[in-house]
Amino acid sequence: MKTICPYCGQTYKLKKEFIGKRANCKKCQHKFNIQEYRGLGNPANIKKTAPPKPPHPDQSVSPSAKNKKSNIAVAGIAVAVILVAASVLYSQFGHLFDKTGNVDSAWAHMQVLVGKRLKSKNAKFPPDGLRHVNDLGGGRYQVNSYTDAQNAQGVEMRTYFVGVIKKANQEWELESLTIKK
Ligand SMILES: [Zn+2]
Repeated sequence: MKTICPYCGQTYKLKKEFIGKRANCKKCQHKFNIQEYRGLGNPANIKKTAPPKPPHPDQSVSPSAKNKKSNIAVAGIAVAVILVAASVLYSQFGHLFDKTGNVDSAWAHMQVLVGKRLKSKNAKFPPDGLRHVNDLGGGRYQVNSYTDAQNAQGVEMRTYFVGVIKKANQEWELESLTIKK
C-alpha cells in the first residue's frame, strides 16, 4: 500500500500492518499517522492547510484608523462645545463666582460714571446689569450694557455703552467709556 506524508506530500510504500502507527517523514521530519493513500494523480498537489491570509492592510487597518480619527474629532468637538458653553455660562453668571464684590462695585461705579457722562440723574440701568460685566483680569472690568434715560425733550431713550473700569489701590478708575449712538 501507499501512504503519504500530509505535510510535504512525500509518498511511501509500506506494508498494511503499519496503518495507524506513527511515522517520521524522512523528507520533512514531521510525524504523522500512517493511513493508506489511494489518491490519484500527483500527491505533491495535495492542498496543504494554508495559513489564513493576513487581511489586506488597506481593508483592515484604515477603517479602524479612520474610526479612531473620527472618535478623536468627535471628542475634540465635544470639548470645544463644552468650553464654549462654559465661557457663555461664565460670561452670564460669572458675577456669581465673584467673591471680591468687585463686579458689583464695578457695575455700581459704572452706572454713576455713565449717568455723569449723559448728564442724566434719572438714568435707569438694567436690573440684570451684573451680567454685562466681564472680568478682564488684573482688576479690570468691562461693562457692556445700556441705560434708559430721558433726553432734553423728556423722551426716554435707550443708550448703549461699553466701558472699562479698573480698580487700583482700592479706587476705581475709568479706563475707557464709549457711548454708542
Ligand atoms: Zn513529509
